Amino acid sequence: MSAVFAKASRIVVKVGSSLLVDAATGTLGRDWLKSLCEDIATLKMAGTDVILVSSGAVALGRRALKLKKGVLRLEESQAAAAVGQVRLAQAYAEMLAELGIVAAQVLLTLDDSEERRRYLNARATLMTLLSLGSVPVINENDTVATAEIRFGDNDRLAARVASMMSADRLVLLSDVDGLYTADPTRDASAEHISEVKVITPAIEAMAGDSVSGFGRGGMASKLIAAKIATQAGADVIIAKGKTLHPLSALSRAARCTRFHASTSPAAARKRWIAGGLKAEGTLHVDGGAVKALASGKSLLPAGVTRVDGRFERGDAVKVCGPDGREIARGIAAYSHADACAIAGRRTAEIETILGYRGRDAMIHRDDLALTNEVREREQSGA
Ligand code: GLU
Repeated sequence: MSAVFAKASRIVVKVGSSLLVDAATGTLGRDWLKSLCEDIATLKMAGTDVILVSSGAVALGRRALKLKKGVLRLEESQAAAAVGQVRLAQAYAEMLAELGIVAAQVLLTLDDSEERRRYLNARATLMTLLSLGSVPVINENDTVATAEIRFGDNDRLAARVASMMSADRLVLLSDVDGLYTADPTRDASAEHISEVKVITPAIEAMAGDSVSGFGRGGMASKLIAAKIATQAGADVIIAKGKTLHPLSALSRAARCTRFHASTSPAAARKRWIAGGLKAEGTLHVDGGAVKALASGKSLLPAGVTRVDGRFERGDAVKVCGPDGREIARGIAAYSHADACAIAGRRTAEIETILGYRGRDAMIHRDDLALTNEVREREQSGA
């Protein structure tokens, strides 16, 4: 679509409440939403995966429930979110359907993207939705939130989603067109910054703690999101979303701040698997599996000769070759008990042995980091 989207294969777009919901009336801005959905359709036509992280549930629900103005108690916010989420999801589903796109509602908590076991499932579900051409519309699962629901949390959630999904762009659409050297509403000399190569303490200091209309999703939470996502391999774009067709506006070089990724999504994921997780067990594999892994394939149950340790599905495990040397680390798609049961067996037999149809591979190739590969990358500083 544009320079900011050039070569992008997977984009996460975060939509703030203030864009979707009119502050005075508490109603959904249908024209705006339609224009956003049209932009999404254009990106999808170009072969780009799009994942939406949308706020707006609380803002929509509070009006429907006739809750008073002012700060809501946690239970009231949760009640409002429960009501508003239905409307929000319905609006996206209808508008995207008109463009021939199937919307999927996905409610996550921040933990889902941080805790491994749920993470594995959330990623697999989202990957499946994308491969089927759907647009996932994600919001925080506010009903189960234990802390105050803060506007701005979705900036972080969107960054976690970008990282979990190996996205190469994260677009934060809000009511500001990017980062300024100072708060532009208070300081006339504040200058807009269009590119940030590295998020230095000086850059962080610029964000201050600005508060915007609907909530607390000011620049500070956007910078936290930018840090998470750039380290995970995504370029982060902060842009003003108010205008109709906000994404195509970006393609016509609308003003924004672009934070450059510090690595690629694939390298970030390999590093996370190789170093960020404690191995809970070991899968010993035969020579054929060693070769298969080296050529970038998944680890199938057939190649596993022995299973050590006690691990659950979603835990990290070591993979060792016939000589006992560690050749890879990965996220196990089966618990140790199930892994023992299917080790050495064909994938087609999994369902009969376990009584359910799990994953085809013991470790999917996306969930594997080869020890050599990671070492080489580290040595070359990539
Ligand atoms: N989950 C909240 C909602 O949908 C919003 C959180 C945020 O805006 O960051 O209303």
